[in-house]
Parts: sequence; structure tokens; C-alpha cells
Amino acid sequence: MTKQQMFKMLHDEEPILRAEITALYSVLDHKLGLHGAEVPITFGMDEKALGSYMPPSADDDEHFQFSLFFIGFCLNEQLSKEDRMNLYKHEYAHYMTRNIPIPQEYTWQPGVHGSAWKYCCSLIGAIPSDYYVEGQSLKKVDFDSLLTRPSVDHKQVQMLDTYRTQRAYKKMENAKIKYDIGDVVNHPKFGEGTITNIEKGASSVSLYINFGEETKIIDQQWLIKTNYKKMSER
Ligand SMILES: [Zn+2]
Repeated sequence: MTKQQMFKMLHDEEPILRAEITALYSVLDHKLGLHGAEVPITFGMDEKALGSYMPPSADDDEHFQFSLFFIGFCLNEQLSKEDRMNLYKHEYAHYMTRNIPIPQEYTWQPGVHGSAWKYCCSLIGAIPSDYYVEGQSLKKVDFDSLLTRPSVDHKQVQMLDTYRTQRAYKKMENAKIKYDIGDVVNHPKFGEGTITNIEKGASSVSLYINFGEETKIIDQQWLIKTNYKKMSER
């Protein structure tokens, strides 16, 4: 079988996989009063992340993404049903952290796989580990002969999922407006200035700051990084 034929076969499986995921998410939604089954599901051929949940952001619609590279039925060593279900739940738990109230006692550990996420896992019976592989070791999967791709170490998969998810959260975080119009800030070069306008971008916030006669446009992230906080907080 050629690589192209393999890709086609994998893409043909998307409706079946989508049905499998949606059926599970509908049950979880019903239990929790959420709408995860309505979040779009996309499929990719990522060999470094099994799945991900992308929260809504200015430049990306909310979606789940799963890699056909791991869950495709036509693969010699598709993840077992148990492992697939756990993967789907793992990503659903990321969705939950944004959509259910997290009790105070479960907010102590930060991070995308921190205590809030683990709490969500506990509600839906997902394995609260950022290792996806429970029943079967991914190391056994012979991806080389299958798709002529580098073999995958599941530790690497775990880390890159974390990276990908964290990057999405970080982008969101960077686009959160942390200043108000009228705030007075202190700039190392231009001195004291007043914020007159705020523009929210996809993953950044631009501040229009009046320094006397002159207005400068400064990235909010830069002001935060360099610790030039609001004058009122000093
Ligand atoms: Zn994760």
C-alpha cells in the first residue's frame, strides 16, 4: 500500500471516529450539563500529539483535534478502544476545566495537567496522567514500516501534547487585557504615560499610551515583562 492510499483510508475513517467521539461526549455532556459534543472535531496526521483541545481564542475557533496517526482503524496497531476512550476523555477534561466551576481545594496545582484538570478527570473516569498510554505501549507500534515516519516515543508524545496545549493557553493569556483606559504607566524611556486606547489582537494586546504630546503603541506583554506596572500599584 502506498502512503497516499494509507492517508486516504485514514481520512475515510473520519466519520466513524467522529461518531465514536461524539457518542462519548454526548453521554458526558448529559451527565454534566455541558455541550462538549457540539465542539467541532478535526482530524490531523500529527505524529507528535495524539489529541488536543483548543480553547476559543481570537485567532482560532474552539475545537478538539485528534491524530489519525494513532486512532485510525486501518493502522496495524491502532490504540485499543480503552486507550482511545481515555484519550477522548483526557481532552474532554481540558474542555471541562473551562466550563465547570472548580472547587477551591482543587486549584492548588497550576498547569494544564494540574489539579483542576485532574479533578475534571476524576468526574469522568479519565486516567489523570498526561501519559496517554495505559494498556498498550506506543513503542510497540511500528510506524516506520506503516507510514515511513520516525518511530514515536510515548514520553515525547506526552511532552508535546503538554507543549501544544500550553501554547494555546499562553496565547489566550497574552490576549487578555490587563490594563484599563486611563491607567498611568511608567516607561523607562518615555516616562509617565496614560493609556488612551487598547486594541486586542489574536495573541497580543496593543496599548496606546500618551507620553505628553506623543502617542506610542506598546505591546502589553512588553510592559508586563519589564515590570513597568501601573503607577497606582507601586
Ligand atoms: Zn492534555
